[in-house]
Amino acid sequence: MSGVNEIRSTFLDYFAKAGHAVVPSSSLVPKNDPTLMFTNAGMVQFKNVFTGAEKRPYSTATTAQKCVRAGGKHNDLDNVGYTARHHTFFEMLGNFSFGDYFKPRAIELAWNLITKEFGLKPDRLLVTVYADDDEAAALWRKIAGFDDKKIIRIGTSDNFWQMGDTGPCGPCSEIFIDQGPGLAGGPPGSPDEDGDRFLEFWNLVFMQYEQVEPGNRLALPRPSIDTGLGLERMAAILQGVTSNYETDLFRALIDAVAHAVGRPPEPGTVASYRVIADHLRATAFLIADGVLPGNEGRGYVLRRIMRRAMRHAELLGSREPTMFRLVPTLVREMGPAYPELMRAEALISETLRLEETRFRRTLERGLAILDSESRTLTAGQNLSGETAFTLYDTYGFPLDLTQDALKARGIGVDTDAFGVAMQRQKQAARAAWQGSGEAATETVWFAVKDRAGASEFLGYETESAEGIV
Ligand code: ATP
Ligand code: MG
Ligand code: MG
Ligand code: MG
Repeated sequence: MSGVNEIRSTFLDYFAKAGHAVVPSSSLVPKNDPTLMFTNAGMVQFKNVFTGAEKRPYSTATTAQKCVRAGGKHNDLDNVGYTARHHTFFEMLGNFSFGDYFKPRAIELAWNLITKEFGLKPDRLLVTVYADDDEAAALWRKIAGFDDKKIIRIGTSDNFWQMGDTGPCGPCSEIFIDQGPGLAGGPPGSPDEDGDRFLEFWNLVFMQYEQVEPGNRLALPRPSIDTGLGLERMAAILQGVTSNYETDLFRALIDAVAHAVGRPPEPGTVASYRVIADHLRATAFLIADGVLPGNEGRGYVLRRIMRRAMRHAELLGSREPTMFRLVPTLVREMGPAYPELMRAEALISETLRLEETRFRRTLERGLAILDSESRTLTAGQNLSGETAFTLYDTYGFPLDLTQDALKARGIGVDTDAFGVAMQRQKQAARAAWQGSGEAATETVWFAVKDRAGASEFLGYETESAEGIV
């Protein structure tokens, strides 16, 4: 059985042997892209290399990239714990060609890796190509020996990648595995494609055009390759399980949760263990990259993730701060591949402990209110926006925490009314208060970080800098 750490190094070694520079993951906070909340794909750190604006000393590269898809364009937060394949934080393994090789070599490299190195059975595999990409279809026929039934043509934007309204773009080809008729769902492109049976695990992007303006697309003289393979999904496939949460790494994290809350997962509670394990990773990696919980922007996304996990710990019966006790397991599992986790371990633990201590003061009372206000509601009905806002404003419940709490019963939240209440409060606050809590936090955080480095214990500074919750 290949563990997650072994799969990561097999991938990087394979592409290194094929001449690619092994480039470290970039930060989860994108350096030169103010439009992007978090790094959400391997290509993000290479954007300017693809456009030609930046030169690197290599023309092919491979990475294991830290990604977060919570907030912004790609937001998988609501899927987490409920689908077998989505995380807020995950690792995207990729290989890149900057005007070097193109489709034939990209497909050949991918095919040989999955069938020879990873030993996947070709008869379980199938691919999609963009509807008019005859070239890719012909290559899959030749390299993989697939007949046309296993090369599914998709004409939607799902299979056509664009960097933005202008810039490099091109067709995709995605690799799927059939996990067998025991699982629900149809092949890609079918009406029930969202089931678990057919799992997408690798996306190959063929950047061959430049969109110069709407309706005007030119062929790039030196087309490029960008690929993304989900490490957690690959691990599930290679370990013979149909959920990322049953892989070695997640089992270790879920065991740590079980130990911390004092009881093992059961069918009715397992989603909570998964959410906690997932959100622990997102929290730890975001803090290690300099994000701290706050009231706006990235800091607020982090706070939402942390608090949501904390509610699930409460659901599992824990009445004391719990999340920080899981950090050593995570650092043991992932620290060797990501030394920044080891350097920031104390900061991660203290930030979690502080946030959980603070949130615990209102969590129980908030949950009691949520309980009594939703008691008479049934599936399909909405909690009032006023109640959701009180929970947010007085008890520190992010809206999506309230939504998540009601989801299992099929109850929603009147988000329009929530928005109205929020606007009203903002107008009142604007008159009374200059500047935002987060700005203050971030200023202090970066000042202290510059002085001491992210590994120093920052608990007290954080607390005093962040009076507003
Ligand atoms: P899906 O359709 O399953 O949501 P996607 O098409 O949005 O995936 P891509 O943008 O193509 O994903 O990303 C490349 C690869 O990264 C995917 O094939 C998958 O293996 C992995 N991946 C994407 N999103 C997630 C996630 N939220 N958690 C774990 N792995 C992911
Ligand atoms: Mg997706
Ligand atoms: Mg997809
Ligand atoms: Mg995809």
